[in-house]
Amino acid sequence: MPGSTIGEWFLWAATSRVVHLHGIHHVTAITGDGPRNAEFYGGVLGLRLVKKTVNFDDPGAYHLYYGDATGSPGTALTFFEYPGARLGRAGEGMVTRIDWSVPSPAALDWWEQQLAGKATTERSAEYLDIWDHEGLITRLVPVAGCESEPHANAPQVPSANAMRRMISVAAHARAPDDSMSVLDSLGFRRAGEAWLTGDGVRSAAYRLESSDGSISASGAGTIHHVAWASRDEDHQDWLARIARAGLQATPIVERDYFRSIYFREPSGVLFELATDGPGFAIDEEPDVLGLALCLPRQHEHLRAFLEQRLVPIPDPWEPYR
Ligand code: ZN
Repeated sequence: MPGSTIGEWFLWAATSRVVHLHGIHHVTAITGDGPRNAEFYGGVLGLRLVKKTVNFDDPGAYHLYYGDATGSPGTALTFFEYPGARLGRAGEGMVTRIDWSVPSPAALDWWEQQLAGKATTERSAEYLDIWDHEGLITRLVPVAGCESEPHANAPQVPSANAMRRMISVAAHARAPDDSMSVLDSLGFRRAGEAWLTGDGVRSAAYRLESSDGSISASGAGTIHHVAWASRDEDHQDWLARIARAGLQATPIVERDYFRSIYFREPSGVLFELATDGPGFAIDEEPDVLGLALCLPRQHEHLRAFLEQRLVPIPDPWEPYR
């Protein structure tokens, strides 16, 4: 309630402003083979390679971003490439699966046929699971009404079948209930097994499943973190809210294409809160996103070295044009 003085009222107004996360911003995984990764996610699945850059903290490693035509929040799937990295083991304390919306059950049929001989798939009435060559699982789920949402416009994928956005991630936890109060204070709403965040337009689910006790290991084919979308103007408020939830977070980190806060939720899963803006068109024209190697300003002086060291990744749509 407002206090009796103007000062108290402003304090109340500032601290009571309700902020919400609105779905997934991006998911970041690890691959041991960038060119093959681009061939699969860009070529076979038809996502657009929207940015070819390097890891901010380890500029000798590629950071590849895929998404819809502009890499909008909710469609950005990113990979750190560590050439020759050992396969990891997805499990406890990790996101283990990413669910994407597609327009219809017929799209599942199309993808199942399309992927024959190119990836392992498993079809149920409700979804199609796809394993990439490193064991990372993508689940396609028909969502009525998503047909009008933007997609990558890949020449090899008809619009009716194109993946739209990430609607859910599943993670494994030893004791999922340990995360309840933190998820609650971050504004996630419980709905059965899932925790929901966002509104009708941009929302996503976080599914915490009990782990079978097997040890997880980071490596190729595993997911490094999930980033939830925060409005640019809310980002500062999130720092305070995370602290109130009793979590240790990083300060706001400049990632050029967005700004980020990182922390682990109690199940051990690395969360990031990332701003919608400014997006991927800040250092390339929208029609040529992802074609050239873009370097963060602080690593630009390494360009000649990196261009020699990094294995070139051609435009994954080239063979289909
Ligand atoms: Zn991230």
